[in-house]
Amino acid sequence: MASSALRTVVVSTRPLLQFRAATVGALQFSTTTPAAGEKKHYKLCIVGGGAAGISNGSKFGRKLGKGNVCIVEPSEVHYYQPMWTLVGGGVKSFTQSGKAMADVMPLTVDWIKAGAEEFSPDNNLVRCSDGTEITYDYLIVAMGLSLQYEKIKGLPEAFQYDGVGSNFSAKYVEKTFRAIQNFKGGNAIFTFPNTPIKCAGAPQKIMYLADDFWTRNNVRDKANISYNTALPVVFGVKKYAEILAKLCERRNLKINYRHNLVEVIPDKKEAVFEHLDTGEKITFPYDMIHITPPMGPPELLKKSPLADAVGWVDVDKQTLQHVRYPNVFSTGDCSSLPTSKTAAAVAAQCGILYNNLSAIMDSQEPQKKYDGYTSCPLVTRKGKCILAEFDYDLQPLETFPVDQGKERRTMWHLKANVMPELYWTGLLKGRWSGPGFYRKAMRLGMGK
Ligand SMILES: Cc1cc2nc3c(=O)[nH]c(=O)nc-3n(C[C@H](O)[C@H](O)[C@H](O)COP(=O)(O)OP(=O)(O)OC[C@H]3O[C@@H](n4cnc5c(N)ncnc54)[C@H](O)[C@@H]3O)c2cc1C
Repeated sequence: MASSALRTVVVSTRPLLQFRAATVGALQFSTTTPAAGEKKHYKLCIVGGGAAGISNGSKFGRKLGKGNVCIVEPSEVHYYQPMWTLVGGGVKSFTQSGKAMADVMPLTVDWIKAGAEEFSPDNNLVRCSDGTEITYDYLIVAMGLSLQYEKIKGLPEAFQYDGVGSNFSAKYVEKTFRAIQNFKGGNAIFTFPNTPIKCAGAPQKIMYLADDFWTRNNVRDKANISYNTALPVVFGVKKYAEILAKLCERRNLKINYRHNLVEVIPDKKEAVFEHLDTGEKITFPYDMIHITPPMGPPELLKKSPLADAVGWVDVDKQTLQHVRYPNVFSTGDCSSLPTSKTAAAVAAQCGILYNNLSAIMDSQEPQKKYDGYTSCPLVTRKGKCILAEFDYDLQPLETFPVDQGKERRTMWHLKANVMPELYWTGLLKGRWSGPGFYRKAMRLGMGK
């Protein structure tokens, strides 16, 4: 397709004024993209413009040059989702968590402003919702995961009631802090579902922030706080689980293990849990509830030839290369990589993927191996944080030469102030591939 066939599309940001593009002063921004319905070939097509899609787009856009890389992404806003813990906790504003997609889209890539609707990897083809058909030499699938609120009876309708919030969705995250502020005592419940989720620490971080808020505002002694989790442990990594279980005991936060939320009855303010070992249904009255929804692979992936048995993109856990389609890679929440799904993991994967896909482009074998590095800054109160970092084997893989299992103010500053900057100006620009280099440097090259 000749480049003259490309056109400039002007997109109104009026409904999204709070996240309007900063690169132009007017209420509009422009991006170069094929006309809707067009057929177009790219050397590299990236599906998804979240943390994983944009960071890889930046790296490969620089490598391959303008006109060779596209990102398929329908959203006008890009969110730094890790900040939603602090938004729900009343520490940051929702506006601070997002930017116009136009502002984070690398200048070296073409933005296809549509959703992918069909993967046809046998034909190296992606069909988009606006009719655009993209053929590619290489494909990176980075379309995140799907939130499944509707799998819980009574949701999402219950979000119309006061006292119900969820940090996992842009729609409901601000409801969390309103619920925390309006809570004047009674039962507060924080849930963890019976599926893999993104940021497995987030369901309890918001409980710690709420507990801290109520303590500061003299409400805590009127509150019964419980953490109802489908899991048999409070956290997947033994070192941190032991510390967190003790912390909960000390702060009188009751953990109910194997309790899976199945129904919310908002007019009665009741939440029904199934005990996963006994099958018993247990009803908890609540005055405030924070819900972490079940999550899973997007439907589109489930029905595509790229999926594994569950629906995640079926990639090799070390190289990130698809196990059946060698010109396809996947990274981030939608991949089958068996690690905790976080932006920190995306950063570490980004360096591996860049090296391995570059090798494939040069007709060489992929050499770099991902160790499953992921991280979870476990905010334990406003001003304190435990920085959990670990690998595929659930063994700590800590960056700093101190015991990161301790609650620290420095780690709070890292989470609240340093990491957002690192995300916007490091990861999304393709200049941050995780702390591996620094971890080794701080240990004088010894250790992992
Ligand atoms: C409350 C909360 C707290 C968190 N805390 C942390 C933390 O402290 N530390 C941490 O590292 N991580 C944290 N995370 C997790 C982190 O945000 C995610 O793991 C990360 O964003 C994953 O990046 P991704 O690119 O895979 O997915 P996403 O960032 O979700 O991006 C997916 C993109 O794909 C697009 N898309 C979807 N469908 C299609 C389609 N059909 N076609 C094209 N595009 C599509 C979406 O619009 C989206 O832009 C947290 C998340 C939440 C919600």
